[in-house]
Amino acid sequence: MSIAENIARIEERIQKACAVSGRKRDEITLMGVTKFHSGEKVLEAWQAGIRCFGENRVQEAAEKFAGLRERLPGAELHLIGSLQRNKAKVASELFDCVQSVDRPSLILELGKRAAERLAERERPLPVLFELHTGEESKRGFAGIDELCKAAELALAFPALRVRGLMTMAPNTGDESLLRASFRQLVKAQQELRRRFPPQADGGWDWSCLSMGMSGDFEIAIEEGSTLPRIGGAIFGERL
Ligand SMILES: *Cc1c(COP(=O)(O)O)cnc(C)c1O
Repeated sequence: MSIAENIARIEERIQKACAVSGRKRDEITLMGVTKFHSGEKVLEAWQAGIRCFGENRVQEAAEKFAGLRERLPGAELHLIGSLQRNKAKVASELFDCVQSVDRPSLILELGKRAAERLAERERPLPVLFELHTGEESKRGFAGIDELCKAAELALAFPALRVRGLMTMAPNTGDESLLRASFRQLVKAQQELRRRFPPQADGGWDWSCLSMGMSGDFEIAIEEGSTLPRIGGAIFGERL
């Protein structure tokens, strides 16, 4: 199967999940997760309509996308893997969104770096907060209290634009566990919206829910995902 064929199949499945849950297709952006895959495959996905790409390592993304960005006009590149503080500067320059913000010290560092980015390129840095909802590695903020503290901290940095939440569900075929995980993210979004209402001038909002991967994206969409992150089902298993 070609990448284009894989994407066409996923597209059908996304539309079915939208129909089942009464959602609109245009609320959802399909991210292609290109970690372990070459720049040529990125281009193939681009040609098949993917406009948002995810990488989980700063170094790999920097090397792969260095000569690629001008061939992908308007594309977004998001960091979805955990970020070390000493790579925050490079990350703030390279990525259009850091989805894996998972601790206060990283908010402080990214806030500083985002201010430099804003001064140089007049672009604030969009970020998502990662919530731990049952995935094995225990990545992400532990719960709503931690998220609220993170919000207070991040909202003090005008160069950071909080856009929503991301999570990884546990690696399981158990549908009830998957739904419970995604529902935790939706519930956290509702609570954050109540406590930190979105700003009319676009300073921050909670609209993005980055959830769902190759094995569970239909369930994630039924539960409200706006940004499923799909690697294997588009690009095949890693080499
Ligand atoms: C690799 C990865 C994905 C994509 O996973 P697949 O199962 O290959 O679709 C999504 N999110 C994160 C954070 C990842 O690291």
